[in-house]
Amino acid sequence: MDRPSVLQRDRSPGADSRSVAARAPGQTVKVRVLGCSGGIGGGLRTTSMLVDADILIDAGTGVGDLSLEQLAKIDHIFVSHSHLDHVTSIPFLVDTVCWMRASPIIVYGIKEVLDILRAHLFNWKIWPDFTQIPDGDNPFMVYREIRVGEAVELHGRRFTPIPANHTVPAVGYLLDNGRNALIFSGDTSSNPALWKVVNATQNLKYLIIETAFSNKERNIAIASKHLCPDMLAEELEQMRVSPEVFITHLKPGEGALTMKEVSQAAGRWRPRMLENNQEFSL
Ligand SMILES: [Zn+2]
Ligand SMILES: [Zn+2]
Repeated sequence: MDRPSVLQRDRSPGADSRSVAARAPGQTVKVRVLGCSGGIGGGLRTTSMLVDADILIDAGTGVGDLSLEQLAKIDHIFVSHSHLDHVTSIPFLVDTVCWMRASPIIVYGIKEVLDILRAHLFNWKIWPDFTQIPDGDNPFMVYREIRVGEAVELHGRRFTPIPANHTVPAVGYLLDNGRNALIFSGDTSSNPALWKVVNATQNLKYLIIETAFSNKERNIAIASKHLCPDMLAEELEQMRVSPEVFITHLKPGEGALTMKEVSQAAGRWRPRMLENNQEFSL
């Protein structure tokens, strides 16, 4: 963050490539997994999904695989919670592309999450406060507060924060384009409120839900407010709709074991492991 070009931003029209300008109403929404692991190493990346070309849901380490041109197109980031595996690429992203953009990157989160990002990440100590750079009237990044249950619509793509049950304030997201919907649980433990949303989403095509630990680590899953396969099965018992189910946030080195246990405990919902670079169409 010490490059002089930070103040030489090109503000001419079209300085940022607006992918959304070309969006037609009802157009298919593409979701690509940039990271879906509980950790790093080898090909593993932490949680992030790219929606079309301009939106991220979470910004884990997988964001770093995008090209500079792709990074510069990201206008919106929906944050599920403040844990580092979900936000670590926001500081690098903003710093990398700010000089290429004519408008700020908008970071969406519930108030409690944004307060944590302000106090503990963009606090001038861990990283500069990009909501004040180059100045507060004209920043490279802005926060936008969202509330559980209240949708944000971006050119036909509706993002609704939904309840999660984690060790810090957290949400999942419902993404709906009017035709199909995808629900991402976020990091969560047992969560009756999630199933109210799931069961009310009649056009639910995909459910992406975490299972961070294997059954032998059930106590850790409970303490850290995640799920293990037996807990996942108890959760899925509450589901009254029939989406395709994908499992995310597997612990590195335990993916095969955890998915075997998922199949044993929750096989009737045919859950599959979420894969990096996997694409969904809504
Ligand atoms: Zn977490
Ligand atoms: Zn996490």
